[in-house]
Amino acid sequence: HTSPQNATIIGAGLVGSLLGLYLAKKGNKVAIYERRPDMRKASIAAGRSINLALSDRGWRALEGIGIGEDIRKVAIPMYKRVMHDTKGNLTSQPYGKEGQAIYSVSRGGLNMALMDLAETNPDISLHFNQQVTNLDLKTNTLEFHNPETSQDTRLQSERIFGADGAFSAVRLALQKTERFQYSQSYLEYGYKELTIAPGENGTWQLEKNALHIWPRGQYMMIALPNLDGSFTCTLFFPYEGQHSFSALKTEADVMKFFQEVFPDAVPLMPTLLEDYFGNPTGTLVTVKCFPWSFEDKVLLIGDAAHAVVPFYGQGMNAGFEDCSVLNELMEAHENDWETIFKTFEKVRKPNADAIADLAVENFIEMRDKVADPRFLLQKKIEAKINARYPEQWIPLYTMVTFTPDMPYAKALKNGRKQEKIMKKLMQLIETEADFEKPEVQQMLERKMTEKFSLN
Ligand code: FAD
Repeated sequence: HTSPQNATIIGAGLVGSLLGLYLAKKGNKVAIYERRPDMRKASIAAGRSINLALSDRGWRALEGIGIGEDIRKVAIPMYKRVMHDTKGNLTSQPYGKEGQAIYSVSRGGLNMALMDLAETNPDISLHFNQQVTNLDLKTNTLEFHNPETSQDTRLQSERIFGADGAFSAVRLALQKTERFQYSQSYLEYGYKELTIAPGENGTWQLEKNALHIWPRGQYMMIALPNLDGSFTCTLFFPYEGQHSFSALKTEADVMKFFQEVFPDAVPLMPTLLEDYFGNPTGTLVTVKCFPWSFEDKVLLIGDAAHAVVPFYGQGMNAGFEDCSVLNELMEAHENDWETIFKTFEKVRKPNADAIADLAVENFIEMRDKVADPRFLLQKKIEAKINARYPEQWIPLYTMVTFTPDMPYAKALKNGRKQEKIMKKLMQLIETEADFEKPEVQQMLERKMTEKFSLN
């Protein structure tokens, strides 16, 4: 190795903490600055447990720093979606092939595990209560404010990584440069975290190894399992309108509405009113911008570069994949940071755009289509096509979630082609058995030759 390089990371969230470990592995001296207090010491943990879905792209990045196995021990595999209708009837749809799963992990638990690993690394220092308030790109000087002591400090760094999330302060400095592209768009929906309580002796009151969905057309609730037997529910709900946050004003409004539309869940939610009125309503934003770098000095990564809505369960996974890709580039172009940064943004931008668009589209699938028997039939037919042509036809969800070798942009492109073919095929199909009809098989064969090569 050449002499150690100094790197400053802003944000000790999921991506910043992981990035620190990758940078240190490559011989850099890393300092991480985080706005919030140390979550391992603060009492935040006593409150709500919030979880996320971790899948293959994320696992690959965790395995790259040797922490995959530890996290697997505290992750709950979810093999399928289970849909709950308004009468409490259940249907289900597997996420992939037998054994394939996405994993429910605690957001705080994962973040703390990464911080612990960073803390024990002699090449990494962590600094809390350090909020970046300004970055001067001429001199690469960061200004910090400590909200606890009200102290303001400055720091000059040769290389700065903005891992400070969707509302990045580092990005704000880049936004002031010439020809910087930036867009943010909000859905007209917000989200609210609620809780399904554990059953007796920490058992699960709904099927544990599944992601539960209450699809209701214009809105939905989902639930992911936690280790203590509880589920974290998220209600995705319009801000305005007949069924909306603004329409539910009183405790009676909320109870009446939930009993009407989520009747099987309500008895499992003893803290519903407390959660509903106590927890904040979160916004759902997509941020796109470019470039992600400034000379060889600054790079945006994770949500700071590309915030997406949560409906594909890929935001963190995409940010973790950023770390894997950056690691490969650090290997290929040792310490040539300008090349590393330029190549990184060029390779990653189309993929970030693709997952951003897929995530918005998947909201419609989750809140609406999964309640439609025709849609579920189509998914079954697709699984059959995949079984017959395992190399050439991979369902879109599988490409995005379980095929980390395939970039998101390619998954999107393949998915579009396949969707067109499915539309035609489904015109000939009424039941699962119809898949074997000669005209279906003939059309499929014809379309497959037209479609391929897949590239
Ligand atoms: P963040 O997690 O936002 O971390 C940024 C860090 O920077 C924070 O610690 C913050 O305090 C710090 N910071 C911010 N500003 C400053 C500043 N000025 N100075 C210093 N520090 C600062 N993704 C998935 O893969 N699967 C899921 O199932 C999933 N579910 C989601 C559900 C919801 C409701 C939401 C909103 C998102 C979900 N995501 C999911 C997306 C995921 O949460 C993000 O993609 C991920 O957290 C991005 O990590 P990050 O480190 O880039 O940003």
